[in-house]
Amino acid sequence: MSRPVPNPGILDIAPYTPGKSPVPEPGRKVFKLSANETPFGPSPKAIAAYKQAAGHLEDYPEGTSRVLREAIGRAYGLDADRIICGAGSDEILNLLAHTYLAQGDEAISTAHGFLVYPIATMANGARNVVVAEANFTADVDAIIKAVTPKTKLVWLANPNNPTGTYIPFDEVKRLRAGLPSHVLLVLDAAYADYVSRNDYELGIELVATTENTVVTHTFSKIHGLAALRVGWMFGPAHIIDACNRIRGPFNVTTPAMLAAVAAIEDTAHVQMSRTHTEQWRNWLTDEIGKLGLKVTPSVANFVLIHFPTDKGKTAEEADAYLTRRGLVLRALKNYQLPHSLRMTIGTEEANRLVVEGLRDFLAGK
Ligand SMILES: *Cc1c(COP(=O)(O)O)cnc(C)c1O
Repeated sequence: MSRPVPNPGILDIAPYTPGKSPVPEPGRKVFKLSANETPFGPSPKAIAAYKQAAGHLEDYPEGTSRVLREAIGRAYGLDADRIICGAGSDEILNLLAHTYLAQGDEAISTAHGFLVYPIATMANGARNVVVAEANFTADVDAIIKAVTPKTKLVWLANPNNPTGTYIPFDEVKRLRAGLPSHVLLVLDAAYADYVSRNDYELGIELVATTENTVVTHTFSKIHGLAALRVGWMFGPAHIIDACNRIRGPFNVTTPAMLAAVAAIEDTAHVQMSRTHTEQWRNWLTDEIGKLGLKVTPSVANFVLIHFPTDKGKTAEEADAYLTRRGLVLRALKNYQLPHSLRMTIGTEEANRLVVEGLRDFLAGK
């Protein structure tokens, strides 16, 4: 008997494996350092706005997320008409793939790139072309070299997750200049707020001056609203127009929209989180380095820790050991990084406990 058959590419996608539910030793407090969530939660003003919206749940949201687009426009100096909001940047990335990729096309991402990219690519029947990185960092020349007549889109997280590395704006511009003009360049800036480097830029200028580049951003990370699912994109008018035609008419909920407006306006909360993250990123990189483990220099709110392959010292064993202590890091086998763990920067208490845990682990305690 015949039965419904999924579209080409769908069954080639590896099924998503959810994060483990940690079972620490009795009496251990659990610190979830595995999903790059902020340890501070959202701004109290965002929580208040969310609660206030609970009084009107019978009403459909305003369909274009106007108040949120305007708040983002004010915060970044952007034209609100060239912004689209989504249920997380995941939705935006999928809208882009759905709008610009079809069977027979190719989309390029980098070796340790974000896993949503291959899913969005393959869900639309396109081929996911993976390009090697250099030193866990996107390699502009390698990306340009991978372009074929079938290439339609390039995904670039800058900074990248899970490596924490970035490429300077000069390099982003060099990448854009090296790609054919019909190829869409997607700059995913989910971690941009954590970067404090003079040579880094979100990419706004490139978007404003080209017809083929977009920047996506999220409220899930520094704004602490991951549960509400809010993301956005700034792009050329023709791309915003095309994506608006296929998005759900009420894709961002009112409570999410209003909480996000309050969050982006609370610049003190953002600054506090940025300062904490930078301080502890430096501390963790130094302290973990002193234990003899390599840490890839990060500009984001997480660090990538590399382990030896000797029995008793591996990433897998470290992961199990720390989990017993209630310290939940992210194993990266499905990111082709089986010898590394990613640690989200947490509270002072969590950060100190991880270093202590790693010290005991390496000492064989
Ligand atoms: C966390 C993250 C996002 C944000 O996804 P949302 O759907 O907005 O929660 C986007 N890109 C990367 C690389 C991320 O790590």
